[in-house]
Amino acid sequence: MAIQAQTEGIPGGFHIHTTYSDGQGSYPEIIAAAKAAGLQWLIITDHDSLGGKAYEGWHDGVLVLVGHEITPERNHCIALGVDYVIKREQAPQSFMDETYAQGGFNIIAHPEGVLGTGSYWEDWEVAGPRAREGKVVGLELWNVMSDWRAQKRRFPQWFHAPFYFLPKPFLLGPTVKTLAWWDKLNMAGKRTFGVGGLDAHAFPRKRLGQLLTIFPYRKLFETLTNYLVLEGPLDLDGKRGKEQVFKALQEGRNYLVNRLYGDAAQLQFMAVQGDKQWRMGDTVSLKAGPLLLTAEAGSVTHLKLVQNGKVIAQGIGKLQREIKQPGIYRLEGRRWGQAWLYTNPLYVVE
Ligand SMILES: [Zn+2]
Ligand SMILES: [Zn+2]
Repeated sequence: MAIQAQTEGIPGGFHIHTTYSDGQGSYPEIIAAAKAAGLQWLIITDHDSLGGKAYEGWHDGVLVLVGHEITPERNHCIALGVDYVIKREQAPQSFMDETYAQGGFNIIAHPEGVLGTGSYWEDWEVAGPRAREGKVVGLELWNVMSDWRAQKRRFPQWFHAPFYFLPKPFLLGPTVKTLAWWDKLNMAGKRTFGVGGLDAHAFPRKRLGQLLTIFPYRKLFETLTNYLVLEGPLDLDGKRGKEQVFKALQEGRNYLVNRLYGDAAQLQFMAVQGDKQWRMGDTVSLKAGPLLLTAEAGSVTHLKLVQNGKVIAQGIGKLQREIKQPGIYRLEGRRWGQAWLYTNPLYVVE
């Protein structure tokens, strides 16, 4: 059986702060960093500000989209597709309802916050607008800065220096708890798409007598990357490009890769039946018989196929599995023991 190569994933960065809130970079600096890091799109999310909205559109080969982070003390949440700032002085249920009422959508940010600090999502029963029917919500599965800070806090202060100079081994990936919540929401029919967040700020910090930048934008952009699976390239019309990015995210046509361990523009993950194929984000029925689920992600990858939260198949570099049961099927991959790849699910129904 000939399986066609999947379209290349289109790499981008999500959850970025600029000088419009507490980030250290201006839009031109951040755009230059994104271009140097090979990203084609960016979603900027300043705290409670849409100050950079005028930058929305293409800049030097990078499509810039501007939403904002709603940041009460706890319960941080990204609002995209909104024309005014959603006020943070209200309960999460109410700011989510307001976002959807004005035609936007939300992505719950760093649900577990940073170990030992207060910025976590309090009530996991609140996972979308009250009238969820048909509306999709996003979940930031992995927030690089939260992960890095949480790992750092596990060690005494005298051992923190390696974290600043060699951050590579200190990212653990999405937590078991967050992944379990994500699977549970999707299994309950509450379509929830996963994204990877950078939480880029480029904070200056004095450490060991030197002024350091905690993850300069370019360095951070070379870590956790969202690859959108589109039919073709991003539209050169900024408005249409924006619709493509938002649609791909909402439909779950996106996979996350920690590029510190290699990129994955060529990932293959699909269900096949005869000459038909389905990709992540698709819903496929078993009415016409079993499906063949097939994945390929480079020889050094330890792949796991996850059905309804449970690992049902593993392989090195590739795997195949006949599917006869409905479920939420997604792929995870590790490289050299490190968290590397997380896809959005394929939905298999009876
Ligand atoms: Zn936040
Ligand atoms: Zn943030």
